[in-house]
Amino acid sequence: MSYTLNRKIKELEPYEPIQGCFSIRLDANESFLSVPKKLREEFSNIAAQMEYNRYPDPMAQELCTSFAQYYGISSENVTAGNGSDELISVIQTAFLLKGEPVLVTAPDFSMYSFYASISEANCVVLPKEPDLSVSVEKLIQKANDIQARMILFSNPCNPTSLGLTREDVRKLITSVSALVVLDEAYMDFWDQSLLNEVNQYDNLIILRTCSKAFGMAAVRLGFAVANATLTKALRAVKSPYNVNMLTQKFGTAVLNQKQLCTEAVQTILDSKASLYQALKSLETQFQTELQVYESCTNFVFLKTLNARQLFQSLLQTGIVVRCFDPYLRVTAGTETENKAFLENFERLLREIKG
Ligand SMILES: *Cc1c(COP(=O)(O)O)cnc(C)c1O
Repeated sequence: MSYTLNRKIKELEPYEPIQGCFSIRLDANESFLSVPKKLREEFSNIAAQMEYNRYPDPMAQELCTSFAQYYGISSENVTAGNGSDELISVIQTAFLLKGEPVLVTAPDFSMYSFYASISEANCVVLPKEPDLSVSVEKLIQKANDIQARMILFSNPCNPTSLGLTREDVRKLITSVSALVVLDEAYMDFWDQSLLNEVNQYDNLIILRTCSKAFGMAAVRLGFAVANATLTKALRAVKSPYNVNMLTQKFGTAVLNQKQLCTEAVQTILDSKASLYQALKSLETQFQTELQVYESCTNFVFLKTLNARQLFQSLLQTGIVVRCFDPYLRVTAGTETENKAFLENFERLLREIKG
């Protein structure tokens, strides 16, 4: 007797973020702030009082209501997920049939093409422009050429940190017959959300996450926002108890504290602004070596001829950033973390320059 794995999973490797003990982690776009103390105290009470023997609410109604109130939308448009990652997987598995064309851009969030391959969809990749921007005209053209059934992209984009305006995204949505999955994982750091327009389109699902702006990556909580028809389908295809009760209650507690959340976002944005400014001045000093992109997110993306080497040398000093040779992605950290990164980065650039 012998069992063999099928061809679509045979060559896959488990996702492995960098493991090890690094003093400064600027590689995963997490918030450098944990949840505020007041909320952590609330978490303790929630955990102590929870009915552990009961299944959670399959529709996470209280949580979806808090999310909807936070953003000023209707909870009827909201579905909760075990991280937005789960929602990306559910959407691609359910809304695509085997072999159907799905369009992504590159570079963009790697999970889109990963789940497309698990769904046995036909994933078509449109490379971004040389300056890493997205040409909406080309995206529309490509989508219609291949008769795409789905288009997925992040806005603002991970990893480029660049954003498309509302006007551009609206144009895309109304010019294609594909389902547009608009991943707004970083939109809490920018101001071009389409959350309150989902009812105007029959082909738009917006994804949001609590992992980046709200300092809750550990909790695993994401949301899909769409019109009633799409929302009904999403709720029907997700697994019933996908969001556990602790996550539902923790998420509700956090989203009910809008003031604390917006303060945290501002603190992160301040850190990003100072990291960006410092890198911009290094760009002036090391013109041939370094190019720094505009940032609509909580991280800064840069291009350098020595990305690998810089990444490795930073690792040796206990500082982790993300390397996508010839690019580096640096998450905004605490003041101390940014300072340590910048000092070492400048020293390494000097050494390379000789
Ligand atoms: C981090 C990230 C996610 C994943 O969010 P989770 O809710 O933690 O699963 C989704 N999309 C993009 C673009 C991200 O950067």
